[in-house]
Amino acid sequence: MVDVPNIRFTNGVEIPQFGFGVFQIPPRETAGIVRSALDAGYRHIDTAQGYGNEEGVGQAVRESGLARDEVFITTKLDNSRHGDPEAALEESLKRLGTDQVDLFLIHWPRPAQDRYVEAWRALERLAADGRARAIGVSNFQVPHLRRLADETGTVPAVNQIELHPRLVQRELREYHREHGIETEAWSPLAKGGDLLRERLLLDMAERYGRTPAQVVLRWHVQLGNIVFPKSATPQRIRENIDVFDFELTAADMAA
Ligand code: NDP
Repeated sequence: MVDVPNIRFTNGVEIPQFGFGVFQIPPRETAGIVRSALDAGYRHIDTAQGYGNEEGVGQAVRESGLARDEVFITTKLDNSRHGDPEAALEESLKRLGTDQVDLFLIHWPRPAQDRYVEAWRALERLAADGRARAIGVSNFQVPHLRRLADETGTVPAVNQIELHPRLVQRELREYHREHGIETEAWSPLAKGGDLLRERLLLDMAERYGRTPAQVVLRWHVQLGNIVFPKSATPQRIRENIDVFDFELTAADMAA
């Protein structure tokens, strides 16, 4: 079994650095695919209210035989629910079949709607009463993070942002580092497109005896990012998490 390190949030909650994303996995296929991921050693699942597949995630965890506290589950507040996150989380908990999520995120700040500060205050209450062990945000830019810091009492445990070798997000990563916010990288493989056919990556993969996807995922791990690549292919599901027994050199990280 793969030995995935944990990252500790400022509130003491620990998250496995490597997880499994379920965006665009059809609801009916979710339980089976998540089960493959759990069998391959993944212990962290990233879903969202908007993905429509929380039931399948909950079913897979229950059927896996693992204890609930052995699997870290993240879900995200739908953009239409900034006015009532507490009721929205209750609905998620029912779909997931659990009484607590490990991490609850505001999926997008939606500044035109201008309710994300109010939504954050509701998340603070959900964290205080234990329905969410930790709370965070997603797709927040620096001004949105500054506003939360100025107007509310808590710092998000994470900010989940698009991040991969073609979008390295230096400014946000620096802000996160200065403020104790962990960086979660969505679309860590840049959606598996032509990035994985870049000459530089193909050459590196050959030198390490790995696949281009493994090189990219190892780059994330060494940067300290929390990652959860998605795959509906059992062989890739196993391949992706198998990145804890080699190390990229500083020169290859920079390249
Ligand atoms: P990823 O970067 O994880 O790429 C997924 C794509 O790459 C799929 O098409 C998959 O194909 C392919 N792939 C996976 N592994 C390999 C491999 N080893 N070799 C070649 N191709 C591969 O993209 P996602 O957008 O799915 O991002 C991952 C997760 O991030 C999501 O599932 C979700 O949890 C989260 N996310 C969050 C967002 C947010 O707004 N907060 C936005 C987008 C994503 P196949 O399935 O056919 O194997």
